Amino acid sequence: MPSSITPPRRRVLPPGPLLLGPAALVAALAVVEHLTGVAGLTAAGGALAALSAGVVLRQQVQLRSLEERGLWRWCGRSVTAVAAGLAVEALVDLTVRGPAAADLRGIALTVGGVVAVMCAHQGMLTWNRFRTSAVHPVDWINFVGSTLGALALLVWAVAVGVLPADAPGWAAEGHLVRAAALGVLAAMTLVVTVLGGLRDDPRAWLLLVGLGAMAVVELVLLPWLPADGAPALPVVVSWTALTLVTARAGAIKPPPLRGHFASTLVVTTCAMVAIAASTAVLVLDSLRPAGTPVVALLAAAGVAGGCAQLLRTASELAALAATRKEARTDPLTGVANRRAMLEVADRFAAARTGAALLVIDLDRFKDVNDRYGHPAGDAVIRTVSRRLQARLDGGALLARFGGDEFGVVLDHDDVERATVVAHALHEAVREPIDVTGRVVRLDASIGVASTAFGDHHDGELVRWADTAMYAAKRAGGGVRVYDEAADARDRDEIALADELRALLSAPDGDARHGALELHYQPQLDCADDRVVGMEALVRWAHPERGLLPPGAFIDLAEQTGSMFALTERVLAQATRTAARWQAEGRDLPVAVNLSTSCLGHPGLLPSLDGALAAAGLRPEGLVVEITETTLMHDPRHAVAVTREIADRGIGLAIDDYGSGYSSLTYLNELPAGELKLDRSFTMRLTSDDRTRAIVSGTLELAHHLGLRLIAEGVEDAETAEALRGMGCDRTQGYLHGRPMPLADADAWLRARDEAGRAAAVGA
Ligand code: C2E
Ligand code: CA
Ligand code: CA
Repeated sequence: MPSSITPPRRRVLPPGPLLLGPAALVAALAVVEHLTGVAGLTAAGGALAALSAGVVLRQQVQLRSLEERGLWRWCGRSVTAVAAGLAVEALVDLTVRGPAAADLRGIALTVGGVVAVMCAHQGMLTWNRFRTSAVHPVDWINFVGSTLGALALLVWAVAVGVLPADAPGWAAEGHLVRAAALGVLAAMTLVVTVLGGLRDDPRAWLLLVGLGAMAVVELVLLPWLPADGAPALPVVVSWTALTLVTARAGAIKPPPLRGHFASTLVVTTCAMVAIAASTAVLVLDSLRPAGTPVVALLAAAGVAGGCAQLLRTASELAALAATRKEARTDPLTGVANRRAMLEVADRFAAARTGAALLVIDLDRFKDVNDRYGHPAGDAVIRTVSRRLQARLDGGALLARFGGDEFGVVLDHDDVERATVVAHALHEAVREPIDVTGRVVRLDASIGVASTAFGDHHDGELVRWADTAMYAAKRAGGGVRVYDEAADARDRDEIALADELRALLSAPDGDARHGALELHYQPQLDCADDRVVGMEALVRWAHPERGLLPPGAFIDLAEQTGSMFALTERVLAQATRTAARWQAEGRDLPVAVNLSTSCLGHPGLLPSLDGALAAAGLRPEGLVVEITETTLMHDPRHAVAVTREIADRGIGLAIDDYGSGYSSLTYLNELPAGELKLDRSFTMRLTSDDRTRAIVSGTLELAHHLGLRLIAEGVEDAETAEALRGMGCDRTQGYLHGRPMPLADADAWLRARDEAGRAAAVGA
């Protein structure tokens, strides 16, 4: 609404003197006229006063908000009409003599008065009709009909003698017409004030009292009409007073707006009153032995006006209902749409019983669309919608959010009951669906949230349900209840993944997100305890979280597509270190771990070549470790890539051997030099005979295939001894050394060199 538009400031004359001065003048003139009998004085003064009221109103128009200007502008015209009526009357009084003068005077005031009422009515319409300037012709038909109905009532009252009216000329009729019009406008003002939310607006009450009083004055004066038929002095004075009261009302500061009052109740009530009154007149008149056709005609017009208004209101309501429904329903399924559901959810959430919300996302629906086309997809959505609807009871509202997403809001916050409903809906979705003769099976991921989970201010409920739905989706479908701790963890992971991406895309020296560091763990030959290799294991020195182990971020890197970039960083560092060791005369290959996505990455081979070249490392100085599971992920491809790697002279180790299920056929085809026995076997070796048997079998197999066996996770001398006894080639583990930062690894190597030299000297 444009209510906040500030009207332009203008210099405004104070309304007090503008109204009180003329009022005093008219009072004085009335006294003079009464005493001297000089007709027309009061009317002339009244015309001046009404003009003055018009000035006040015109000034007020500038001060009012846009939606009120219509009212006061029309009120200004209204008082000007009265001024004109009074002026004509004064003119006639002063110039014309005889019976014609009386008629003319009566007609002048009546025309002026009726036009004034019509103007005020127009203003009232712009005020009433939703505080806009929209005015419909039917409003006028209603008003005219009502006035004619009221007139019928008055004419009937005169005819049956309830109202005594004995006067020559047009005087009596003038009174009746003015009274009828004023009465209808007063009634309308009353309805607008009471039903239209204007009860605390003093201006509405002032106008109402003014109009009502004027109508009463017109009727009360009927028995005392002057013999010459001219309007009595009190009538002239009253009309003048009415213009001043109207101007006074216009000068009152409006109270603050309180919402809208777009109510069809106002117009409907007006129409009903008009119909009822007119019908009553019709009935009463027909009971009279000699009814006048005038009364019947007027009353019939009143009924017709009222009916027109009612019809229009009804059709408006129907149209409104239709657009409301359209804005609130999903066109494909006919159930509520997201907006409608959120409104209901808000309502339920605000109630004592709270609300629960289910968000349902179909799984594999895209396949249906892709494979059978969109019409079939639409049919499936409709079927699912029907099924969901069938499983819900009265306290639930089903909505389609669009696409293949649905929502259900329940009128309670009981999570257990909501979960039961969710499972029932899940079952409903999973039942086979016939799509153009073929059976399709869908699944769904359903998230459950409830206002019982805590502060559910703006949109939180939907976010919870969405989060739970995504968790369900990640878990492969089914029902998930929102879990705040898991949500916090997820958000934390997302933050960490973002930081990792930033770290990997930042230039090398940029330490804002910390740095990736390699720790090196030695591998020893079982026969002579020589250090024969180092495994490079990555860590993230995070600026806030400290040194993060690979378990904290490797999976994240894999999920967010950062794994290859990470591996390139690792390769660069590892090959540089290996090259230095090579340059220092150490035969110390460095092993780097390759993940599944890296093995499948088209950039892997160029990247390996690039790292070797950049570091100046001979290929034998690098070993890549690939887990058994990775190799079995796409065995054909693995064989092809690992051949390429091996052809370059880079070493290949099969990592975590025994933890997955490798196919021996493929194992035979892989150009690996080394099997790394998984830590789980090493750990149980000395305590479990079955493990011992498996390890010894594995050793035999490895040696048969021409592979070295390296045992990971050797923590104690006893295990190392047992492995040596069984013929194991190499060992790696805390017994020899934990993964160490490069400086520590260097120190560790030098210390071993010293010890070796000392032993040699001693021997
Ligand atoms: P992995 O390749 O099996 O590496 C060996 C893990 O076992 C390392 O854990 C190491 O610290 C730990 N370990 C070594 N000796 C012992 C021992 O005697 N006892 C016990 N209990 N543990 C021992 P870490 O460094 O936490 O690395 C975990 C995993 O992260 C690695 O398992 C590897 O799969 C992965 N990873 C590490 N760095 C990289 C990398 O640069 N790229 C890729 N793709 N994965 C990496
Ligand atoms: Ca490894
Ligand atoms: Ca391993």
